[in-house]
Amino acid sequence: MYSNSLVELDRAHLVHPVASYRNHEKLGVRVLASAKGASVTDASGKQLVDGFAGLWCVNAGYGQESIVEAASRQMRELPYATAYFGLGSEPAIRLAAALAERAPGDLNHVYFTLGGSDAVDSTIRFIRYYWIARGEPTRDQFISVEQGYHGSSTAGAGLTALPLFHAGFGIPFDWQHKIPSHYAYRNPIGDDPQAIINASLAALRRKVEEIGPERVAGFYAEPIQGSGGVLVPPKGWMKAMRELCRELGILFVADEVITAFGRTGPLFACEEDDIVPDFITTAKGLTSGYVPMGAVFMADHVYQTIADGAGAAAVGHGSTYSAHPVSAAVGLEVLNLYENGLLENGRKAGARLMKGLESLKDHPLVGDVRGRGMLAAVELVVNKEKKTPLPAAADPARRVFDRAWENGLVLRAFANGVLGYAPPLCCTDGDIDAIVERTRKTLDDTL
Ligand code: PLP
Repeated sequence: MYSNSLVELDRAHLVHPVASYRNHEKLGVRVLASAKGASVTDASGKQLVDGFAGLWCVNAGYGQESIVEAASRQMRELPYATAYFGLGSEPAIRLAAALAERAPGDLNHVYFTLGGSDAVDSTIRFIRYYWIARGEPTRDQFISVEQGYHGSSTAGAGLTALPLFHAGFGIPFDWQHKIPSHYAYRNPIGDDPQAIINASLAALRRKVEEIGPERVAGFYAEPIQGSGGVLVPPKGWMKAMRELCRELGILFVADEVITAFGRTGPLFACEEDDIVPDFITTAKGLTSGYVPMGAVFMADHVYQTIADGAGAAAVGHGSTYSAHPVSAAVGLEVLNLYENGLLENGRKAGARLMKGLESLKDHPLVGDVRGRGMLAAVELVVNKEKKTPLPAAADPARRVFDRAWENGLVLRAFANGVLGYAPPLCCTDGDIDAIVERTRKTLDDTL
């Protein structure tokens, strides 16, 4: 299909993220060569609709010339400037200010990272700085939610609650705890929204009691659990958890690495959830995947506490590429695109996507359809009544992914038979319809 030498070079040298190395050696790589709008073209010339925006990140879509121009202008003028030693660059400062202005409530302080894992990892450090500055150094325990994903840094992978990220390593560490997910479709307590919220509240209270209320530092939650299978909590879940954290005196981190920047409709999903967390972590849509960057948003009280705690000393957290000017220039242009039509288009396309996916419910393999905006999932089962998952031995994820690819669709096929959708916000009606039609064809082919 592709030049053999490229496949061989890949096999021999490129270590792929989150991959079975042995399977990859057998199956080889699929090489993408170019992309435009919501479509990608592989090295053999096959064109596909990208129903997953790369890795839920190319929110603006491919081939946006103004982003390319912003990056090349910045590279020409000032390709790099450190943010150490009191130095800075105009795009980084302007992007921080623009984001702070748009972020919910008093999340006025922005620390730029290299991506999402680095953002989550940074919050662990900021939270510790905060509690030590507050004179409560015993607060060193962190809680997150089963089926949550918070990246794969050494510490963050322990907040992540997917066993794949723990196997063979020895995490989570003993300071990382979990409460059950709100996953409605397979919740042992049923799918009543208020019952699920109450159960999560009770679980967090119990966990805090168990650990010791004076030990708990922070709680992490995604507005929609992405990598866990696009699990949408009942309306009011985030608000209830946020308020409980305030009552218990625990810092609340909303991990919006996937959900921010129009993915669920608004710029931040927290706006829809009507909450102001102590931190928001973001990445992906911040630069729409054109260059790497993430951002941690800190509330005023957090920033002031850390600053007072350090006094004249430096807060010893940072990296060479934090606040990278090229990434920031891209971020500014991406924000401009969001606010000049993309968010609006994404909201319309999201409604069409959800309606289209809902129409698949009549298919014998479709057990559940869920989502918000341009973030959705279809959960496949072999028996709808019993909610029997596709047999794992048949490697449903690989089979469905391969069939979708043949049908001209890139989607995310999770190992448990959940299909994930996160198309670019620039999708036309035709793109969305193609995603739905090609999914139906793929399911028919899988039967
Ligand atoms: N947090 C969440 C909620 C994510 O979905 C991800 C990645 O998908 C991360 C953190 C990690 O981000 P990255 O892959 O950029 O390190």
